[in-house]
Amino acid sequence: MKSKVASFAVDHTTLDRGFYLRSQYTALGFYPINSYDMRFRAPREKQYLSPEAIHTIEHLMAHYLRERLGNKVVSFAPMGCKTGFYLVVKGFTPQRKVMEAVLEVCRTQSDLKTAADVPGLTVVQCGNPEFYNIEESNAALREYGDLLEQLLNK
Ligand SMILES: [Zn+2]
Repeated sequence: MKSKVASFAVDHTTLDRGFYLRSQYTALGFYPINSYDMRFRAPREKQYLSPEAIHTIEHLMAHYLRERLGNKVVSFAPMGCKTGFYLVVKGFTPQRKVMEAVLEVCRTQSDLKTAADVPGLTVVQCGNPEFYNIEESNAALREYGDLLEQLLNK
């Protein structure tokens, strides 16, 4: 079925892990809003992230990317297919800078010990604060950090 959803036009059978600019929007006729596809897992490999790890990474990225990119971050959200995340960034920030910010979060937040290390995991701040997986989040962020390093150094 034809659709206007940009990601539906991507062939997921050949999609590799990576960091992709998926859609570009313009506000007020000139102000860019970029939606990035942070693909942690290649869909064809069927090695999905667990929902608990996804939730953990969501909290970490939502918090720490804003420390690095400030109010340029519009949103950070998991993909329902459990292979990655969407990061929406506004303004004239080069993709490389965005990738470096994500890499920094991967590197500084992949050696966590307990849920207390994850921002916002409280009954007041989150809908399901018992739902997390520190070990898997550490491993997934390490792996994705390695990939980003390769992409940035090539
Ligand atoms: Zn939460």
